[in-house]
Amino acid sequence: MSTAMEPVIGLEVHAELLTKSKIFCGCSAAFGAAPNTNVCPLCLGMPGMLPVLNRRVVEFAIRAGLATGCRIAATSRFARKNYFYPDLAKGYQISMYELPICVGGHVDILVDGAPKRVGLTRIHMEEDTGKNIHDAHDASSLVDFNRSGVPLLEIVSEPDLRSPAEAGAYLRALRSTLQYLEICDGNMEEGSFRCDANVSVRPAGSRTFGTKVEIKNMNSFRAVEKAIAFEIRRQTEAIAAGERLRQETRLWDADREETRSMRSKESANDYRYFPEPDLLPLVVDATWIDEVRASMPELPQARRGRFERDYGLSAYDADVLTQRKDVADYFEDGVRAGAAPKEMANWVTTEVLRIVREEKLDHALVIRDWPLTAPQLAKLAALVQAGTINRNTAKGLIPRLLRTGQDPAALVAAEGLAQVSERGALEALVADVVAKHPAQVAQLKGGKEQVMGFLVGQVMKATKGKANPQLVQELLRAAVA
Ligand SMILES: [Zn+2]
Repeated sequence: MSTAMEPVIGLEVHAELLTKSKIFCGCSAAFGAAPNTNVCPLCLGMPGMLPVLNRRVVEFAIRAGLATGCRIAATSRFARKNYFYPDLAKGYQISMYELPICVGGHVDILVDGAPKRVGLTRIHMEEDTGKNIHDAHDASSLVDFNRSGVPLLEIVSEPDLRSPAEAGAYLRALRSTLQYLEICDGNMEEGSFRCDANVSVRPAGSRTFGTKVEIKNMNSFRAVEKAIAFEIRRQTEAIAAGERLRQETRLWDADREETRSMRSKESANDYRYFPEPDLLPLVVDATWIDEVRASMPELPQARRGRFERDYGLSAYDADVLTQRKDVADYFEDGVRAGAAPKEMANWVTTEVLRIVREEKLDHALVIRDWPLTAPQLAKLAALVQAGTINRNTAKGLIPRLLRTGQDPAALVAAEGLAQVSERGALEALVADVVAKHPAQVAQLKGGKEQVMGFLVGQVMKATKGKANPQLVQELLRAAVA
């Protein structure tokens, strides 16, 4: 006998905030400096130093809360989370516990075209820890405190997710929102957007939760989805075999594609949380919230809806184009430069985003160095729409336009690339191709449609790829009819 099992997944995201300075001192919060150069007695955990809250961190937390429909608490409070680890010099992390700044809220996701609302439990502010660096050669460990005190938002979802794909969609939607807000660059490889997953399984239809396992150490969306899928399988098999699962923390091993036990899971009691005595309770008044609200940009979901409505794009294209603000801006720049929206969408989602991925231009929060400017692409799309060049010629031109700023129309004129659309010229070529390939013509007449591609290809070859393919097809049909 086997009961179908249902996975229950909740995610905890740690997002490093893009403030210039750290959360409780004036040190730079920039990534990538030489070890232990962005430090001071406070973020090194020296005794007797007093933290001063960075107002910008609170503003960023409010932005995140408003964007996700949270209630912003009028009064919230920092708390000490006590534990020992070499990257935590003072022996506690300043976090928030029973009174977080944002409560409730949600993130809307699309999975296979189906919308779903994922609840948020809370969003709170905390300081990041330093970073242990283990040297395998001489078996020593070093600590870099540059990251100590870099501001984080911890964003905790309700256990509303039911599949690895939903978890992936949630993370993409959340990252996209934080990027639109310009409060986090969302770089998973550099660790500025980190995710831990809580996974359990239970008999489908059950309302109680199974034993929860926390998975850590995943540094890409793919890794998160794979780790969750592995864990669902492992737990389901263990239960089927009559084993008892234990509440624990497991690490994802990307090379072996498996999770393995790290430690039994600590509970909140183990941290001996208490209100942070060095900081006053945080009071956020309505005026401050209104100020932040007034400065909010249009968010991805709203922009997606607008793209579907105003430009007649499919839900899929609108989704791909609005995941990144810079990509959405680029698309709209092209439309403003005169491209038909659907044509522009087509070129951006296929050719341009492929180049952007290949050249790894999308690692930064904002792509400033587009290899092809939006007006250039708009002109190229317009040339195809007007029938001046065909799609293949246009594709072939892209590598030659990259980083030249050249006008596509000028390039087409200079090289005589305009497509052969003149009926008379094409009719002669078509007649020639029909005469040379009687066997294929017979097949086409017999209903074998695939042969059409071959015959069109022959005419294209004769024109060095410049014929208007629709017209060639039309003429071929007339010729064999
Ligand atoms: Zn400092």
